[in-house]
Amino acid sequence: MKNDKKKVRHQQNRIILIHFLSFVLFFIILGFFIFGLVHIFFFKEVNKELFEFKDTLEENIVEYESEGKRYVSINPRLNARIFVILYQEDGTVFAFDRNLLNFLGKHLEGFHNNPEIKDEDISENLKHDIFQYNPGMIFNLEKVSDKEVYHFQTFSFALDREAAPSVKACKLLIMVNGELESRNLVIRVYFLASFLMFIFAFVASLLLSKMSIKPIKAALDKQLVFVSDASHELRTPLAIVRNRLENILTKSNKTVYEVSDDIAVSLKEITRLSKLTSDLLTLAHSDNERLQLKMDEFDLLELIKDVAVPFSEMAEIQNKNFLVAGEKCVIIADKEKISQLLIILFDNALKYTAEKEDIEISLTQNGNEVHLDIADTGVGIADEVKPFVFERFFRADKARSRETGGNGLGLSIAKTIVQLHRGNIFLADNSPSGTKFTVILPKNRKLEKK
Ligand code: ADP
Repeated sequence: MKNDKKKVRHQQNRIILIHFLSFVLFFIILGFFIFGLVHIFFFKEVNKELFEFKDTLEENIVEYESEGKRYVSINPRLNARIFVILYQEDGTVFAFDRNLLNFLGKHLEGFHNNPEIKDEDISENLKHDIFQYNPGMIFNLEKVSDKEVYHFQTFSFALDREAAPSVKACKLLIMVNGELESRNLVIRVYFLASFLMFIFAFVASLLLSKMSIKPIKAALDKQLVFVSDASHELRTPLAIVRNRLENILTKSNKTVYEVSDDIAVSLKEITRLSKLTSDLLTLAHSDNERLQLKMDEFDLLELIKDVAVPFSEMAEIQNKNFLVAGEKCVIIADKEKISQLLIILFDNALKYTAEKEDIEISLTQNGNEVHLDIADTGVGIADEVKPFVFERFFRADKARSRETGGNGLGLSIAKTIVQLHRGNIFLADNSPSGTKFTVILPKNRKLEKK
């Protein structure tokens, strides 16, 4: 039993872990998704600007000569955010935007067309990353200047325009610091939200695991109670039989007749034991869902009358009135199980009535249903115990029930049989006294299912 509880705890921990990991995995996937979407969203605009600028540049680039030097101009220039670097046929830089210098630090100043600044003054890395020509590529360039970090998205392409014959290629740089900051803000918010979500995920997995384990725990507890009740019920008749047999042994010089009382009691207890074990087996099978129905078509009234024969004889002996009334009702059900149900209810009605009291059984039909009432004018069932009578081993009056051979399993078996037939069983007070059990069964369980 302890082992079972341990297993349930292990299972609960496993469920917590699985739920938590699923949540975490979900958030990680969601994170990648959000990151991708945000990135695409921000850089789609940037790339659009670059392509539009490429078109303006191709249409508006003009090369001219002044004081023996060649220059280019792009007029009109539609996007001040974009810097341009132009290359000659041999791959060397022909001209570039002077504004670039503001971003890249002093050591780049005058890189081109300024005889005072020599090539060696320019940091090799800067020169390489910023000024290298990467044909047809769009990629992110992270550049560290003297003071600040600048991020550029770059786009290089070949150029062949009559208006600018010295220029053979071009590189556009657009600063994306703003976009990256916004993207990083979204990511930071996502991480903060994820952190809160992880806490939420942990609490949610804990609650979910508790919820999913609850029915298992309840079933286990129910089973524990069932097993302990069953052992208790078995122990009493076994102890009685053992006592009586020991009694017989100590009186070995006596005749069978003289010990017949011990033998009779032992036999009675053995009968009780065999009934108890068969009841327990029925319930165990119903728990395992191994209780299969063998469906037959038969007249329920006829079956009731057959089953009632020994009970009405007994009633006559006990000076009670046992009456069966009703109309022919052909149903499709498990005949054997329905007999068992009738025996339980008739037996109870007889057990809990006194001399001269009445037991009335009536059968009616209503559409696809049959209604069976078993009413007695006996001791009745107190309101406070009514909700428990269908529970296993429940007996309102233990002494009386034991005296009459009851083990408290009858009504729970009755309920199981009715439920297997997709019917209903309930009880009410009978007037003027006693109890009335009502069983409602579908005439055909299969039709009911539809
Ligand atoms: P038992 O074998 O003790 O009769 P059941 O499960 O058949 O067990 O019934 C459970 C309890 O319900 C009984 O112990 C009894 O207290 C009560 N009960 C059942 N049927 C009747 C009835 N017809 N009249 C009064 N009490 C009843």
